[in-house]
Amino acid sequence: MNKKVHDLFIIGGGVNGCGVARDAAGRGLSVVLTEMKDLGSATSSSSTKLFHGGLRYLEFFEFRLVKEALDEREVLLKAMPHISWPMRFILPLNKSQRFESNTPVSKLINKIFPFYKNRRPAWLIRVGLFLYDLMGGRKILPPTLSVSCTERKGCSKAWRKNLCEYKGHFSEKR
Ligand SMILES: Cc1cc2nc3c(=O)[nH]c(=O)nc-3n(C[C@H](O)[C@H](O)[C@H](O)COP(=O)(O)OP(=O)(O)OC[C@H]3O[C@@H](n4cnc5c(N)ncnc54)[C@H](O)[C@@H]3O)c2cc1C
Repeated sequence: MNKKVHDLFIIGGGVNGCGVARDAAGRGLSVVLTEMKDLGSATSSSSTKLFHGGLRYLEFFEFRLVKEALDEREVLLKAMPHISWPMRFILPLNKSQRFESNTPVSKLINKIFPFYKNRRPAWLIRVGLFLYDLMGGRKILPPTLSVSCTERKGCSKAWRKNLCEYKGHFSEKR
């Protein structure tokens, strides 16, 4: 019987198990990973494969969590340039859009600007994304941009103002 003692025994070869195994092996630990079906065959196979930075947690003033997620996003993009790339997302802005009402940011805004009634002015979303860009020490992903859509492209006047945000996207295909 093989009695070799390993530093780490991981149960489950989803993205978390494989990620921990990769990180630990990279730090010189000896690792055993067990998977009862196939690597990445469970929840991880259904993911949209985006490196989120946790933008929605800014609404909860979770600055540390967001900073850690953004830092990690850069680490992942740097570690796997062959299977990851920036992906552009357009965030449409419209004056009538309403947001979650019971987040700390919502409560604060409703107190200071009661007339917004759970809506977010474009400038506030821009400030949030500026903070988000700033916190991440972004090196690979481009910054958020303001973009406008013209009538010629089929945009009604109410939806012309948009923001363009970048996330990391990856593929497990080689
Ligand atoms: C539709 C959808 C979209 C998503 N999009 C994103 C996204 O864009 N970005 C993002 O970061 N997250 C996303 N997520 C969340 C993300 O997919 C999950 O958080 C992540 O896949 C969980 O990984 P895991 O390794 O913890 O679990 P799993 O991928 O479920 O892996 C667990 C593994 O453990 C194995 N296992 C269980 N029990 C045992 C045992 N006793 N012995 C051996 N093996 C065992 C299973 O077979 C399985 O392979 C998304 C989730 C969904 C459903």
